[in-house]
Amino acid sequence: MIPKSLNIYGETYKVKIVKDKPDAMDCAGKNHSKSKIIYIKEDEAEEMFHTYLHECFHGVFEEGRLNEAVEDGLEEVIIEQLVKFLLKHFTVKPK
Ligand SMILES: [Zn+2]
Repeated sequence: MIPKSLNIYGETYKVKIVKDKPDAMDCAGKNHSKSKIIYIKEDEAEEMFHTYLHECFHGVFEEGRLNEAVEDGLEEVIIEQLVKFLLKHFTVKPK
């Protein structure tokens, strides 16, 4: 259900499912944009997919340079709203 990698605007992000939280991972996931790795904490499939989408959008903000215009707290709010809306009203699955 969750791919091992994802291309975001030309940058390849690896996706790693982890049992323990990596450093500085304070929630269910982490997008380490410098190393292009998305970490997702092992959980139920639905929860992990939510986290995966959330971290993908952080990649969109990073690679689309939206993060230069939007401060971090607001980025979190925008992403969570988008993910919740998508999952509620659409069937979302990786290609
Ligand atoms: Zn986030």
